[in-house]
Amino acid sequence: MKKVLLHICCGVCAFACINYLKEEGFHIEGFFYNPNIAPEDEYTKRKNTAGKVCEINSIKLNEGIYDPASWDAVCSIHATEAEGGKRCNLCYEVRLRETFRKTLELGFDFFTTTLSISPHKKSKIINEIGMEIAQTHFMAIDFKKRDGFKKTMELAKTYNIYRQNYCGCIYSVR
Ligand code: SF4
Repeated sequence: MKKVLLHICCGVCAFACINYLKEEGFHIEGFFYNPNIAPEDEYTKRKNTAGKVCEINSIKLNEGIYDPASWDAVCSIHATEAEGGKRCNLCYEVRLRETFRKTLELGFDFFTTTLSISPHKKSKIINEIGMEIAQTHFMAIDFKKRDGFKKTMELAKTYNIYRQNYCGCIYSVR
């Protein structure tokens, strides 16, 4: 069975992505690496929620290092950009690069990300960045397809999963 590391941005988005990959017959582990999330209380809340969703689905969740200063050093040059602009592209890249590194460390075949399930995010851009980083190790999936977002919201409601009201970084709180 091929192994895929799923970068998880939050518990809500993870539900349908996990189901999708299970249906495709993969062995899955999650990876919570989101140094973009601020403040730290919010990071902890989303990490715990991702843990709960993984537990419900009987998959292991690996946690990355929470290093918001490193993230900010890369992304703050575009602090004033609107959501969906250059800052977000850098933010995707930071998270996907680390997920690729973790994929190799764990000896997994592939990685992908829950990010593409959000209607606020352009899957094409996310997948282009992933392909550029890792070519054949990256699975370019648009999790919005197959009613992904609708399904994940329904599951989150069923399991009473915490749903945040901003994307993640301090600039998106504004
Ligand atoms: S708005 Fe979201 S995707 Fe964009 S930089 Fe902030 S956390 Fe990252």
